[in-house]
Amino acid sequence: MACFWHVMSAMEREEYDELYQCIDCKSPISPETDRAFAVSPEEYLCFDCAVRRGGLYDGDEDRWIRAPFVGDEPDERRPHP
Ligand SMILES: [Zn+2]
Repeated sequence: MACFWHVMSAMEREEYDELYQCIDCKSPISPETDRAFAVSPEEYLCFDCAVRRGGLYDGDEDRWIRAPFVGDEPDERRPHP
């Protein structure tokens, strides 16, 4: 795992934890320790919600092999940029 996690002070780690909540169930997420799915650098899904949204996690590979669906609308309904 990332080394920077271990050099942070307890207070910094606490603040770091508070930065991330599951965008679905609002439970706190520690991206370095939880199997959270990064929707974006600021948005995470917890493991349970990511799986519920169709994500597939490979414990052997230690990575998501299928991304959960994170949009509320089907892609084709989104306005094109
Ligand atoms: Zn969740």
